Amino acid sequence: MNDQVEQIIKEIKAHYKIIVLRHQSPDPDALGSQLGLASILHASFPAKIIKVGGKNNGSLSWIGKMDQLTDEDFKDALVIVTDTANTPRIDDQRYNSGHSLIKIDHHPDDDHYGFLNFVFPKSSSTCEVLWNLVEQSNGQLKINDDAARYLYIGLVGDTGRFLYSNTSANTFKVAADLLTYKFNANKISERLSEITLAQGRLQGYVLDHLTISKSGAAMAIIYLDTLREFGLNMDQAHTIVGVPGLLNNVKAWVVFVQKRDLSFRVHLRSKEVPINEIAKEHHGGGHNLASGADAEDERELEKIYKELERAVESYK
Ligand code: AMP
Repeated sequence: MNDQVEQIIKEIKAHYKIIVLRHQSPDPDALGSQLGLASILHASFPAKIIKVGGKNNGSLSWIGKMDQLTDEDFKDALVIVTDTANTPRIDDQRYNSGHSLIKIDHHPDDDHYGFLNFVFPKSSSTCEVLWNLVEQSNGQLKINDDAARYLYIGLVGDTGRFLYSNTSANTFKVAADLLTYKFNANKISERLSEITLAQGRLQGYVLDHLTISKSGAAMAIIYLDTLREFGLNMDQAHTIVGVPGLLNNVKAWVVFVQKRDLSFRVHLRSKEVPINEIAKEHHGGGHNLASGADAEDERELEKIYKELERAVESYK
């Protein structure tokens, strides 16, 4: 067992209460890694109190439910945060009021906020990182059918059903090992790709209103009024983020979704050109080819699109 894994297990063993958190507006990897780790801890240490925190996500509530955490829950607890690059994004800002803090993640490790940081940016997903943690634990951490289901959800979610370039030989090995447990993998892939009619119509809207530069940088803006017209909220609109990338002449793209306070959520995506530095310039971050940020107003949107065009044009 390597030192880091040994330290993490020591820390888990030293606490009778463990809280698992993840990032705000959770995606399948955030929920899968959070609930997967909670199941692993339940299976490995049945006497410990294990709780999961954060807001419930409407459209992903089929994955699992959160506990309602009190201040008392955090007292003397070990807090483990999964899939969250930096502290402002942790869904429960009491994350630091426990006794100890561990970060488990696969985003670039710019913010080492944990007392222990188990971070592997080359892994497809935090769920893949967790599987590797279990494998290296010499049988001290155990996987059951529930945990396998959760980890598979994260793997499928963050690789876009094994489509994106973060899918490695190890990702397939982990997927193959997870499939030896009892859960309906086919159902998971189906649920993660199905959309409502309103979301399908919004996809059409995005294609109709897309700006594409000669170099292959694309941009779509979804204003609050449009969202309301389609009867969708911001989380539900997230299903359209990948749509511009379906086009063969689009190399990198940005989707702006207006929030209730009229500022914008920024979703940057790319097939090859790194775009995470652009996100960092606008209070965000993420992976080389998939990042998020925030923008104040239309002037900032224009600036971001210009930066994206420049990145695509200068990429060799
Ligand atoms: P999104 O466009 O919101 O789907 O985010 C794409 C990726 O970037 C995900 O892996 C997020 O966790 C990450 N990300 C989004 N916003 C931020 C942020 N403000 N800081 C760091 N990472 C982020």
